[in-house]
Amino acid sequence: MPDAGLLPIDPGARRAILDAVASLADDSTALLARLVRHRSLLGEEAGCLDAMAELFAGLGLTPQRVPVDVEALAGVPGFSPPLLDYAGRDNVAAVHRPREARGRSLMLQGHVDVVPEGAADLWTTPPFEPSIRGGRMYGRGAGDMKAGLVSIVMACAALRRAGVQPAAELQLAAVIEEECTGNGALAVMQALPRPDACLIPEPGPGFPALYVAEVGVVWAWVTITGRPAHVRDMQAGVNAIEAAYVLMERLRAYEDTMNRAELRHPAFAGDNHPINVNFGTLTGGEWNSSVATRARLGVRVGVMPGHSCHDVRTDIERLVEQAATDPRLRGARLAVEFRGFMADGCVFPPEQPIALGVAATHRAVTGAELRHYAATGLTDARFYALYGGTQATCYGPDAENIHGIDESVGLDAMHDVTRVLALLIAGWCGLEAA
Ligand SMILES: [Zn+2]
Repeated sequence: MPDAGLLPIDPGARRAILDAVASLADDSTALLARLVRHRSLLGEEAGCLDAMAELFAGLGLTPQRVPVDVEALAGVPGFSPPLLDYAGRDNVAAVHRPREARGRSLMLQGHVDVVPEGAADLWTTPPFEPSIRGGRMYGRGAGDMKAGLVSIVMACAALRRAGVQPAAELQLAAVIEEECTGNGALAVMQALPRPDACLIPEPGPGFPALYVAEVGVVWAWVTITGRPAHVRDMQAGVNAIEAAYVLMERLRAYEDTMNRAELRHPAFAGDNHPINVNFGTLTGGEWNSSVATRARLGVRVGVMPGHSCHDVRTDIERLVEQAATDPRLRGARLAVEFRGFMADGCVFPPEQPIALGVAATHRAVTGAELRHYAATGLTDARFYALYGGTQATCYGPDAENIHGIDESVGLDAMHDVTRVLALLIAGWCGLEAA
């Protein structure tokens, strides 16, 4: 039977830590509201990053800014082609160094970026004005993953309040672009010493769970150029928007193929549709009475672990080429470019010590077993698992409607995750007097 190898925690220290987490519950909820108010969309992360730097400093640590240096990272495995310039968007990291390292080192990381709110008028309360209803906080990013950031900060704050500190290096990081490239996490991983494990409190699937696998993702952008014409002579033109639909049919058929049972990684055996092709954006056209000349389709394609994102990229290139020869397109031109995610799928073995440590600590705190979750989306944990030679997984609070309307997170679940993180630090790193 594999073992998490957690160090025993003195019962008095354990009690003091749990009491400290309980005493910080209101502060935790207030901090979550504060972070949700930061509208930290792509390119607008600075305020939330500053807040995280201030919080790390409040833990007695020295925050360090970690830029995403495209030139330095371009050849590093896992790098994704950027969507945006990185100036003024440096990640924040902080490292606790013990007086005497006795335990194992640990990275606790979260992302500050959130996805757009969608149609704001569909939200019950405005997406960046946090609102508590029925024990849940509603707001964009509440679950994905500002509650996780709160748990990281408050777990450390609870240790301080209990008069103890980790007896091993503890790395904290708040990163950008988890939702579109992962380059923030990659930059931080390259900048810091490799930890013995990485845990990211990304939200669970709606029940307490440990991530055991995740798909990869490729983002592609296809520009379609038709042939303009007045609508009274419509047949003489080629409509770029209609041409986009031809490509979409082919991508949908590809999705069906990639979800066939024989192509599925064993970790996804229980999921009959792990690979999703999403048409995220479609823009185009110029005038209601003109045949649309140009359209642009933004698409996200899932990647099964065991297939590489580069294979999927080649598949997309082939599908675009084939679509261009479709007789319905009659000479429309299609050009594909890849910016954003170029990410491989990944397995997080549940028998690795960090996974066992999380499961054992969750059991000790809540009395319940964690279920295993193979995620059909991706997280930054892949960098450590695939390229860092570091065991990694995700475990976080109960969130609903992430990336949707009325996103929320359960506050009790967030407090439970804080308890688990605090005791996991204690058992994984060991403790010394502060
Ligand atoms: Zn997330």
